[in-house]
Amino acid sequence: MTHILHRQIHASLPVAKGGRGVELFDEAGNAYIDACGGAAVSCLGHGHPDVVDALKKQAETLAYAHTSFFTNEPAEQLADRLIAGAPEGISHAYFVSGGSEANEAALKMARQYFVEKGEPQRRRIIARRQSYHGNTLGTLATGGNEWRREPFRPLLIETHHIDPCYAYRYQEAGESEEAYGLRAAQALEDRINALGPDTVMAFVAEPVVGATAGAVPAVSGYFKRIREICDRYGVLLILDEVMCGMGRTGTLHACEQDGIAPDMLTIAKGLGGGYQPIGAVLLGQHIFDAFAEGSGLFQHGHTYICHPMACAAALAVQDVIERDGLLANVREMGAYLRERLEARFGNHAHVGDIRGRGLFLGLELVADRGAKEPFDPARKVHAAVKKEAMKRGLMVYPSGGTIDGTRGDHVLLAPPFIIDRAVADTIVERLGEAVDVATG
Ligand code: PLP
Repeated sequence: MTHILHRQIHASLPVAKGGRGVELFDEAGNAYIDACGGAAVSCLGHGHPDVVDALKKQAETLAYAHTSFFTNEPAEQLADRLIAGAPEGISHAYFVSGGSEANEAALKMARQYFVEKGEPQRRRIIARRQSYHGNTLGTLATGGNEWRREPFRPLLIETHHIDPCYAYRYQEAGESEEAYGLRAAQALEDRINALGPDTVMAFVAEPVVGATAGAVPAVSGYFKRIREICDRYGVLLILDEVMCGMGRTGTLHACEQDGIAPDMLTIAKGLGGGYQPIGAVLLGQHIFDAFAEGSGLFQHGHTYICHPMACAAALAVQDVIERDGLLANVREMGAYLRERLEARFGNHAHVGDIRGRGLFLGLELVADRGAKEPFDPARKVHAAVKKEAMKRGLMVYPSGGTIDGTRGDHVLLAPPFIIDRAVADTIVERLGEAVDVATG
């Protein structure tokens, strides 16, 4: 009998006892290749000795110091490092304990920015359907996944959702990619105008949509147009790279590949690689200046912001990624894994789309490939793939209800940046069997 309120109350979970490299081990001694990094978290794999050493040292030196009394070295060093590699115009970092907290803080920064600037009427948030930004009330309101929002709807703040840039589902026959990207972005301008441009404070989007759509990057040109529209109407662009950021797509930030810089960028998961809970908002100079020249404070905060252990873990993780040239491995192994997925599933009757960037790849599972018809949700095909994969010693991250809250199944792969070809081959072999059984 457990006294933990687990997410799935009736599921019987194996007990994780250890982890080494790309594998996790359970109590019974079974090994699982972590092909999804949990939820795109474990970018260095498990038990990395350099990170463990850094954590031991930090625990011996300073485990905690409240930010109303002190700053601390790991947090200062991590901020310097992140700002040195940040998109243009980003000047400061705000450290929290995870992705939801980062997005919640970004929303509050956006609001306070306009209050400081004397535009208090700006309060509306526009985001996209098929997006996930977290599970706190503000971020849940911002995310577009209907199933997650449903029970909490009466508690949610006002947000407005447009369609995401999701070529497999929304690009029309005969429409070029460029035309589709512009049409998808036009939905933002139309919505801003419908709501009243001076009432909109922010547009929030994931450059590569993760949990709710299965590694969907925008088509080229989409985000450039989004940036122009935000600039035209003075709307802040918040990019949520909690899942797709920190090297996962082959560049440090996913938005580099879209050729744009946001006003705020949120990061988490791969920042600390799971060795400690950490997230951050990377914010633009203009936002910092509005606070610094205005009230002189950001009216927000949590007990564990700038946590020394969390910042030390993130510094160690990022040091290893740089020292070992792991972003190059993400690009190389990402291309290889994709090639293997295409060879195995390119003609699979129930795989409609194979997509993603770097080591952030997704399969959309369909009942009818020609008609792109999703499976009957009652079959819970995504859950069946997860179960069959676990039986074969493979962890993958599936989701359902991704099209409209009930229909749509996909599987997400986000393995550690350290994988080699042999691991990629085993992932595809085991996933192939799991998909065959679950969709057959
Ligand atoms: N944003 C995105 C894009 C995510 O994928 C997630 C988590 O999956 C979050 C935000 C929320 O992060 P956390 O679970 O650390 O609060």
